[in-house]
Amino acid sequence: MSYISVIASHSALQIIKGAKDENLKTILLCFKEREKFYKMYSSPDKIIIINKIEDIMKEEIQEKIMEAIFIPHGTLISEKNLDKFEKEFKPRVFGNRWIFKWESDRILKDRLLREARIRTPQYFESINDVDRPVIVKLPGAEGGRGYFIARNKEDLKNKLEELTRRRLLKNKENIFIQEYIIGVTIYPHFFYSPIYNRLEILGCDRRYETNVDAIGRIPAKDQLELNIIPTFTVIGNIPIVLRESLLPEIQEIGEKFVEATRKLVPPGIIGPFCLEMICNEEGELYTFEFSGRIVAGTNLFINGSLYSTLLFNEPISMGRRIAREIRKAIENNKLKEIST
Ligand code: AMP
Repeated sequence: MSYISVIASHSALQIIKGAKDENLKTILLCFKEREKFYKMYSSPDKIIIINKIEDIMKEEIQEKIMEAIFIPHGTLISEKNLDKFEKEFKPRVFGNRWIFKWESDRILKDRLLREARIRTPQYFESINDVDRPVIVKLPGAEGGRGYFIARNKEDLKNKLEELTRRRLLKNKENIFIQEYIIGVTIYPHFFYSPIYNRLEILGCDRRYETNVDAIGRIPAKDQLELNIIPTFTVIGNIPIVLRESLLPEIQEIGEKFVEATRKLVPPGIIGPFCLEMICNEEGELYTFEFSGRIVAGTNLFINGSLYSTLLFNEPISMGRRIAREIRKAIENNKLKEIST
């Protein structure tokens, strides 16, 4: 088994490149209209045409990739039927296939972060408990679209009523209310390696979000007059070099998270993940979300990052890091330790 397979989106370009750099063969599950583009930028060894993401659940498609290790990325999480994927997807999956459900369900996600005993923003089960500024995450909102901030309980109630009146919110039960942390966002990229038995920090980015990142460009009095409300639609990613004194703490937070996944989602997280953090003015780190797989922010580091250089002294992207883990596992007969 020295093939990998991947769906043509999200971070597939660096995953294919990384696999080739590690001498693994590659199969791309590609939409017809993207074939020309992906051939030019990644030249996979084989292309299998799919019409939609759910096609990966089809018997005839699975048969064609049974000999490959499937590498999941963000596109899989946007897929609604993760239960079916967990149970019925037959090829081996790189990492822990049971963790994706924990990422896509906000309540489960919060439980896992709490289990890690790391600093997290307070979660409010009921609107009546709100006693500070909050961010409201509406069901199904992707990439921060449709989130809003409320100053206090009254402001929250008014805004929810307004949304209900405009029929933008059907069921208040499904909203996720979280303490709003004032600070800067940082998204460290981790890789947990069962082969090397260690957790690695391989990069860090922040998201470029409109219009919250635009607000500083507008004088405060104009913001009021124009009634500008912060929104969080992701437009791109910006690389970050962290203040070095933060790194040991970030490593420790990552290790606690790995430990929590071992308890709640055995065998625990394997391979890439990201903890989404906010650092406030006291330098306190709050982890408000996680992604249990490769994140798009790693696309910044196709040629490796400062941190991957420290560990490997060669250009190792997250895609290549995955491929290296697979190659080492194959060489040492340990595929079961890195895939499910
Ligand atoms: P998420 O979909 O949870 O990753 O959030 C999208 C964006 O909303 C983040 O990148 C942050 O800019 C912002 N955000 C989310 N949760 C919080 C929070 N608890 N406090 C402050 N900002 C937040």
